[in-house]
Amino acid sequence: MKSMLWGDPNMRKVFSSIEISETVLVRDALLHKGFDATIQNSASGGSAVPGFRPPAEVWIADADDHARARAVVVETLATLDSTAEKPAWKCAHCGEENPHPFELCWNCARPRDMAAQPG
Ligand SMILES: [Zn+2]
Repeated sequence: MKSMLWGDPNMRKVFSSIEISETVLVRDALLHKGFDATIQNSASGGSAVPGFRPPAEVWIADADDHARARAVVVETLATLDSTAEKPAWKCAHCGEENPHPFELCWNCARPRDMAAQPG
């Protein structure tokens, strides 16, 4: 079943991780909750950084589901990582707040190391 086309403006990225296992878990959780989710590897964008492994990304088909899908992502990651209660971090690149388990900004995929710490 192929219900999504890449480039569909309604599609939204809800999660990215260099750990493919995490993206699979998130994708499966979203599918289980009824979202039309799929994994996309961002490798097609290319990278000028030698040895850089592009993160895999989880996308949903309907941007209207974005907020609810993110809640599912956070829930799923919280079950993986008991450190989820640690404070969120703010992306220095785009200003988006990211739940602690996220190693990459969900919005722009910049690594947390580049982000300013809260406080
Ligand atoms: Zn960002």
